[in-house]
Amino acid sequence: MSSDVSVDVSGISAHAPAFPPALRAALQAAHPVFWANSQRSAAPRIPTVVDGRVISLADVRAAQARFERFAPLLARLFPELRDSAGRIESPLLAAPAMQQALNLPTTAGALWIKADHSLPVAGSIKARGGIHEVLEFAEALAIEHGLVALDGDYACLADAPARELFGRYQVAVGSTGNLGLSIGVMASALGFRAAVHMSSDAKAWKKDRLRSRGVQVVEHTGDYAAAVAAGRREADADPYCYFVDDERSLSLMLGYSAAALHLADQLAAAGVQVDAQHPLFVYLPCGVGGAPAGIAFGLRQLYGPHVHAFFAEPTQSPCFLVEMLSPGASVYDIGLTNRTEADGLAVPQASELAAQAMRALLGGVYTVADDTLFVDLHRVRDTEDLRIEPSAAAGFSGPGMLTGTDEGRAYLQQHKLDGAMSGATHLVWTTGGLFVPAEEYARFAERGAALAAAQRARPT
Ligand SMILES: *Cc1c(COP(=O)(O)O)cnc(C)c1O
Repeated sequence: MSSDVSVDVSGISAHAPAFPPALRAALQAAHPVFWANSQRSAAPRIPTVVDGRVISLADVRAAQARFERFAPLLARLFPELRDSAGRIESPLLAAPAMQQALNLPTTAGALWIKADHSLPVAGSIKARGGIHEVLEFAEALAIEHGLVALDGDYACLADAPARELFGRYQVAVGSTGNLGLSIGVMASALGFRAAVHMSSDAKAWKKDRLRSRGVQVVEHTGDYAAAVAAGRREADADPYCYFVDDERSLSLMLGYSAAALHLADQLAAAGVQVDAQHPLFVYLPCGVGGAPAGIAFGLRQLYGPHVHAFFAEPTQSPCFLVEMLSPGASVYDIGLTNRTEADGLAVPQASELAAQAMRALLGGVYTVADDTLFVDLHRVRDTEDLRIEPSAAAGFSGPGMLTGTDEGRAYLQQHKLDGAMSGATHLVWTTGGLFVPAEEYARFAERGAALAAAQRARPT
C-alpha cells in the first residue's frame, strides 16, 4: 500500500522517558504498579508512524472493509458464523454486578465489558488480528491470480480453483497458543497448509484443537521467542511459506484496530457518550502489545484524547512497560521470570512496532499479580456469568489501579478528569476463554474462589 500523505512528525519524541528507580525496584519485586505515560499527547489528532509509514483512520476502515468482503465466505466455511452472516464480533455488556464486586462506586463511572472472550472461531481477541492477516494474504494471492476482484463475491474462494491455489502455500506462525489457534484454524479452513510453532509447554488442549483441524503443530523446547525464531527461519527458506510475525506485523495491528469501529456503534446504541465530560477508559490485557496497541490506535482515531488506553500485564511479564522505559530490553533483563498462568500474556519482549505506535497515545500500563487474575476470573463468573481465561481477567484491576493509586490519581488530575468521573466509562476488554476446556476452567474458578474467600477472611 502506498502512502503519499505528508505529516509533520517532528514534534513527536521517539525517545523513552527516564526509568524511575523506585518503579524499577517495584517491578523487580513483582509488586503491582501503575505507570502513567508522560509522553501521551492530548492533541486531537496525532500522526502515528509505524515502520516509517503514517497510519490513519483510513487504514482502520480498510481492515474493516476486508472483513466485510470476506464475510460471505466465512459464513460458508464456519457454521458458527451463519447467524452473524460471517461477522466475527462480540457483545458489549454492562457489568453493574461486577462493578459492585470490584468496589467501584458509581460516582467513579460505569463498568462495561467488551466480551472478546466469546469471539467465535478463535475464542480470543486473536480472531481480530490473526484472522485479518490470513485474509489479507489470501486476498492478495486470489487477486494476483485473477480469482476475485475487490468488488466481487468472495464466496467463490471456497471453490476448487482457489483451494488448489491456497494449497500450494503454507501459512506459519510462532505462538504460545491463542495466535496459533486463530491463524491455524483460519489458514486451514481456507485450504492453506498451516503450521504452528509452539513452545513445548503450550497447553495440550490448544495443540489438540489445532491438530483436529489439520494444522501441523511443531513443538519447540525453550520459550516463545525461540519458537518464533525457529518458525521464521524455516519460512525464510521457502518462497511458498508465509510467516505471520507477531512482533512486527502491521496487518495484525490493523486487524485489531477494526474493533474500534464496531465498538463505537455498540457504545452509541447503548447510549454511552464519549467526550470531555464522559471520558472512556479502556483496560487491555497486553502480551507483545499488538492487540492492545491496534485497538488503542483505532479508538484514538475515533475519540481523540477522550479515550484513555491502559495496558494490563502480569507482574512477572511487564514487557510492554519495560519496552516503553528501556527500548529493546526484556523482562529477563530486570530479573523477572516471565512465569505466569496468564499464558496469553507470558511474553518476555514487547513488539517494538506496537511500542512505537503507542509512544504518544498510551495512557499508561499497570501490572497484576496472578492471584488477582484468578480472583477476578471467579468474580466475573459469579456476578455476570462470564467464563474467561486468566489472561482475560487482567483488565478488571484497571479501574482500581487508576482511581486507587497515587500514580493513577495523579493521571486523573493531570488530565483534568477529576470532575468528569461520574460520567466516565470503564471498559474492560475480556480477551479470551471460549475454548478453554470445562475441567480446566473449573480448576481456574475454584482457585479464584478459594483466594477470594481467603481475602474476605483476612482482617483488614
Ligand atoms: C494474545 C492475547 C492478548 C494480548 O495480545 P498481544 O498482541 O500479544 O499483546 C491478550 N489476551 C489474550 C487472551 C491473548 O491471547
